[in-house]
Amino acid sequence: MTTVETVLVYIGLGSNIGQPFQQIKDALAKLAELPDTAILNDSGYYLSSPMGPEDQPDFVNAVVQLSTRLGVFDLLDRCQAIERSQGRVKTRHWGERNIDLDILLYGDELIDAENLVVPHPGILKRDFVYLPLLKINPDVILPGTGKLSELLARSSDAGADYDCQFSGNIE
Ligand code: ADP
Ligand code: MG
Repeated sequence: MTTVETVLVYIGLGSNIGQPFQQIKDALAKLAELPDTAILNDSGYYLSSPMGPEDQPDFVNAVVQLSTRLGVFDLLDRCQAIERSQGRVKTRHWGERNIDLDILLYGDELIDAENLVVPHPGILKRDFVYLPLLKINPDVILPGTGKLSELLARSSDAGADYDCQFSGNIE
């Protein structure tokens, strides 16, 4: 296990098959059990239309804020282990999935590796990512780029609309 100084992390979750609300809740419980990790806040559930193929159920999304001493690649491995433990299998690109965990931000780090890009490149383009992220932290900064709320106000390809709506607290 790689440990580092405590880092503030945001993870985006998505699910659209196999009881999506429960899948998100289960994944949150597993994140809370990771070593040297604590969940600080979550966005609650958001519902949105599917991105990509439209002949699939709506998505339930959420963002969770956590503090961790796990290194980022260790954290990625553990997120993928959670996906596998909930029975995720690869289907078509942007297709249905029972759970997806994406590392959105890892402190103020910029990472551009073959298997890991942070900040997640979809943040500005997907309302089901930036709306729950802004709910947790309206002042959140994208390292190397600027304040998310200001970037959204300025950016022309931002605001892609998947009809994302808040749909309740995670109890
Ligand atoms: P997507 O989330 O784009 O639908 P997948 O969940 O199938 O796609 O992930 C595909 C690959 O994306 C993973 O194997 C992982 O290594 C890589 N990846 C790159 N950046 C990230 C990130 N920030 N968080 C999670 N996975 C990432
Ligand atoms: Mg993913």
